[in-house]
Amino acid sequence: MIVILGCGESGFGAAMLAKQNAIPVFISDNNAINQDIKTQLIDLEIDFEENGHELVYDISPQYIVKSPGIPNKVPVVNYFISKGIPIISEIEFGYQFCNGKIIAITGSNGKTTTTNLLYHLLFSAGKKVVKSGNVGYSFCKAIAENAYDYFVLELSSFQLDDIKSFKPNIAAILNITPDHLDRYDYQFQNYINSKFRILKNQESEDAFYYLKNDELISSNLRDLKVRTSVKAVEYTFDKNAEVLTLSNSNFNLESSNLKGNHNAMNAAIALSIALDLNIKDEVLQEGLNSFVNDPHRLEKVATINGVDYINDSKATNVDSTFWALDAMHKKIVWIVGGQDKGNDYSVLLPLVKSKVKAIVGLGVDNSKIISYFNPYIKVIVDTKSINDAIEYSSQLAENGDVVLLSPACASFDLFKNYMDRGDQFKTIINQKRLKEWNQ
Ligand code: ADP
Repeated sequence: MIVILGCGESGFGAAMLAKQNAIPVFISDNNAINQDIKTQLIDLEIDFEENGHELVYDISPQYIVKSPGIPNKVPVVNYFISKGIPIISEIEFGYQFCNGKIIAITGSNGKTTTTNLLYHLLFSAGKKVVKSGNVGYSFCKAIAENAYDYFVLELSSFQLDDIKSFKPNIAAILNITPDHLDRYDYQFQNYINSKFRILKNQESEDAFYYLKNDELISSNLRDLKVRTSVKAVEYTFDKNAEVLTLSNSNFNLESSNLKGNHNAMNAAIALSIALDLNIKDEVLQEGLNSFVNDPHRLEKVATINGVDYINDSKATNVDSTFWALDAMHKKIVWIVGGQDKGNDYSVLLPLVKSKVKAIVGLGVDNSKIISYFNPYIKVIVDTKSINDAIEYSSQLAENGDVVLLSPACASFDLFKNYMDRGDQFKTIINQKRLKEWNQ
């Protein structure tokens, strides 16, 4: 018997997979289980408890599969740890049953974009492929469907911390910049090591991709004894023509919605992997042209009175905002702020000085942003609501400018999450656009 703690998407997927492999399973969830999932559990004759952990204490499971959202320090987890029961993650559990090729993507920024893109390129080329991890299906559910040759997996550092034997056939680290340091004893190297866990079990028949010009990844790689076959991706990107060149192949990003240098880097990794899987250039170019990314990532919302409004609410750290500012060709009214994660804004300064005409702080406490940029930017406004932030921004922006929401901070001070922040931004802009039309 195994126990699954937490019955969200990934816990339920793990239960389905256990059942399919005739492993007796019990699910225990501290909260109410979603009605739809509950109906399916009953149909599948999977035992469960909800709204608290009680019955689970009477079980002596072989091991526990823990959902990623449950911290190690909660009493039920501590109890099983003290009993010497192994705790594994959903990714680790699924891995034992996965027969397809696993392509695992990590990095501080660009994971979702690159996972979505690679999935789309392989799917457009007719491959039987699924995306999972943090996007799309849960890994276990995808495996339970048993219909895929390729699993493109987005993995965070937290998921990598929990792996033991998991070994992707293909792995990639897109970039590593300071983020989530509160979870890593404020030691950047701990966070770097966590990312490198993606290749720790790889063997010579496997492959690891990274960008050759990434000095941090190159130097860490030099210090490690790796068994995998290392693919250092070399690329050039002509920013004006939007042409990405990889060895003998040229790809045009102009007609794709992949804008800016950072997306060229994401595309360089995804395309290199796809080329090594023998997909032809023409097929990849078609895939690039038809690719649609998830919202909240440099998403153009509208142009009103000649001003472009761009929603980059997913930019929750300084590096992602760096690339958003870098990607803009027009003068920027920059909406920035939220819950600070110990941000160092100095890397943004050259871009801010050359491109930003006004700053609109959006957060409960904007004092750090205001005092940092005050000596360099004449117009800085302090706001505590998205309505005010948009109101000021549209007053400050002129025909030919761009209003960019790229906060460099988490959203939890004023919003439920980054999606809520981006959705509110889009709703107000769209209302504004309709008002303009009706005038
Ligand atoms: P993740 O899944 O790693 O959070 P996303 O693809 O969701 O990455 O993008 C998050 C934010 O980072 C967005 O604002 C996006 O524009 C930006 N971004 C995307 N790719 C990169 C990259 N390679 N380097 C830096 N920032 C990036």
